[in-house]
Amino acid sequence: MELNDKITVLKGIGEKRASAYEKLGLKTVGDLLLYPPRTYTDFTSPVPVNEIVPEEQNLVRVRIITKSNAQRIRRGLVLYKAVGEDSTGKLNIVFYNNRFSFDKLEVGMIYRLSGRVNLKNRHFEMNSPEFQSDESAAPVIPRYPLTEGLTAQALMSSVREALDGVGDIPEILPDHIRFEYKLCTLDWAVKNLHFPKDAASVEISRKRLAFDELVTLQCAMKLLRLKRSFDDAPSMGKGDIQTYLSSLPFELTGAQQRCINEILSDMKKSTPMNRLVQGDVGSGKTAVAAAACFTAYENGYQSAFMAPTEILATQHFNTLSSFLTPLGVKVTLLTGSMTTKQKKEVREVIAAGEADVIIGTHSLISDSTSFFRLGLIITDEQHRFGVEQRKVLAQKGEHPHKLVMSATPIPRTLALIMYGDLDISVINEMPRGRQKTETFAVTGKLRERALSYVEKELAAGHQAYIVCPMIEQNPEMEVQSATEYEQMLHNTVIGKYKTALLHGRMSGEQKDSVMTAFKSGEVKVLVSTTVIEVGVDVPNATIIMIESAERFGLSQLHQLRGRVGRGGGHSACILLTDNPTEEVRERLRIMSKTSDGFDIAEEDLKMRGAGDFFGTRQSGLPPFKFAGLSADTRLLSETSAAAQQLFEKSPDLSEYPLLLRRVEAVTETNGEEGMN
Ligand code: ADP
Ligand code: MG
Repeated sequence: MELNDKITVLKGIGEKRASAYEKLGLKTVGDLLLYPPRTYTDFTSPVPVNEIVPEEQNLVRVRIITKSNAQRIRRGLVLYKAVGEDSTGKLNIVFYNNRFSFDKLEVGMIYRLSGRVNLKNRHFEMNSPEFQSDESAAPVIPRYPLTEGLTAQALMSSVREALDGVGDIPEILPDHIRFEYKLCTLDWAVKNLHFPKDAASVEISRKRLAFDELVTLQCAMKLLRLKRSFDDAPSMGKGDIQTYLSSLPFELTGAQQRCINEILSDMKKSTPMNRLVQGDVGSGKTAVAAAACFTAYENGYQSAFMAPTEILATQHFNTLSSFLTPLGVKVTLLTGSMTTKQKKEVREVIAAGEADVIIGTHSLISDSTSFFRLGLIITDEQHRFGVEQRKVLAQKGEHPHKLVMSATPIPRTLALIMYGDLDISVINEMPRGRQKTETFAVTGKLRERALSYVEKELAAGHQAYIVCPMIEQNPEMEVQSATEYEQMLHNTVIGKYKTALLHGRMSGEQKDSVMTAFKSGEVKVLVSTTVIEVGVDVPNATIIMIESAERFGLSQLHQLRGRVGRGGGHSACILLTDNPTEEVRERLRIMSKTSDGFDIAEEDLKMRGAGDFFGTRQSGLPPFKFAGLSADTRLLSETSAAAQQLFEKSPDLSEYPLLLRRVEAVTETNGEEGMN
């Protein structure tokens, strides 16, 4: 049996079962072997019956002394009851409607049973336990996420069969890497992922598999970078950027200037630029992007600037026009809401080369837009674009230079993984005169006080954002609870101001129209669920109040806070929590005293691991199976160092054919454009 064999080579897996497996993303034997259990039931250390902790999960080792007849409690509910004992006491064992499990228990035999124990009439009662006979007990049993048509038993026995069938799993990493980073072999990792001898083995196994996942991804990005270095791009060495700089209404910060220098030196080269500009909200990324557009223009090339929403596209259009039009650059807007006739006209202008900078939403990339000489592509807030959209746009030019702008500060170690094939420029300085947004963290008891603080800002003619409390992860409830929350606000001190609601269930158009009303000042208070449009600039909004602040990562809070403080005057952020545990207090304290996005991101990574950053919304990467929540800073830097070492030994990885195959598979599943 080979890892690449279809899952149907396993006994009992026909087409029908195979489709259940496919729902879990499992197509091959290898996929199955890398399917992580959700959790494990530990059968290793039973407690004596007299040491059972009521209302908790307990593991006991008891002999079954009696089994009663089935009792019909009511229609559709049958109770099966047994009694077990050890030298310290007796324990009732009950199953509901589960005759199958009950029948397997034999009187006189000893079992290990794991389940929740309640105290009932002063007797211990264990509910629907999992159990194994004591003689043949496996120490730890995996519990997999299941789907319809697939039982835990069936999945577990398929995994066993696959393990037996495949035999030893070939190692993909050279020994020196394994030794240096203290990793078990791949074979050991896979076996112990499913059938570990104890909890510690699971950890060792997961560390190895997470390491593989991250190192493979980083190798894939390095290979891509290598490949791209052979592409021809238009070299853009002409033009004097000073012309642009001296026409700006302000002086650039040192960080902005440094970024522009980095970009221009990339664009001079005849290999395509692939650069990410990271900068906090308000750090002035647009002026940097405009410098790149200006240079493309001076060299006779068009630039395409893609924004995730219509309102952002329009905002960029206004800014870029004000910077570039006076210099003779023709700036054009192309959006979905234009009439068919307007769009057609704009597209003709673009195709004829009469537009130099084209700004638009994704409609920009629809098939009917063709460019004249596309030399530069800029994507703003790029994680919000689908992989496909970016790919299509990249194909419009020959090998255009690419610039990606992101307002999500990401620690360096993580950026290497998430954007490993991009060069990174950081704008880590704010324009002068910007005031820090004052941040308060308060408990829900002070909600009224917080609202009157908001009211003060409104009375002064300013606007406010309020982020709704989060109800679990339940999209069904979202709209209802947000609506109720908005209603509730009407009965408070801010009830006399016009509010509008923004939530994730609205269409792009609906959202745009709410945002437009807010931007124009018609709406005073924007009540929103978690998603406030990224990057929207409403300088008159001076206060943001965030409910359930404890539910957000620090970086998310920082993003939200970035909605205010854009007008140059005083602004504030109120973080409300009804659940002020010590950990929550600490996080909110960090928010109050830190205003630099990169510092906050580092803290976030330290406190919560990489899960937040790897969340698909932020990264665009496929979800990790092993490296998700557990990835800590150390693992991140170890894997990037390891990838580096592998490439130093073998610049095209040809010395490590098995690793190379895995790396190619990663690129294939993600698509090249999906990797950045
Ligand atoms: P972001 O990085 O969030 O995209 P923007 O490019 O929208 O930030 O810039 C925010 C505001 O700051 C804009 O009004 C812009 O004109 C202004 N700005 C940018 N750079 C400077 C600077 N060096 N000095 C003063 N104002 C600046
Ligand atoms: Mg921006």
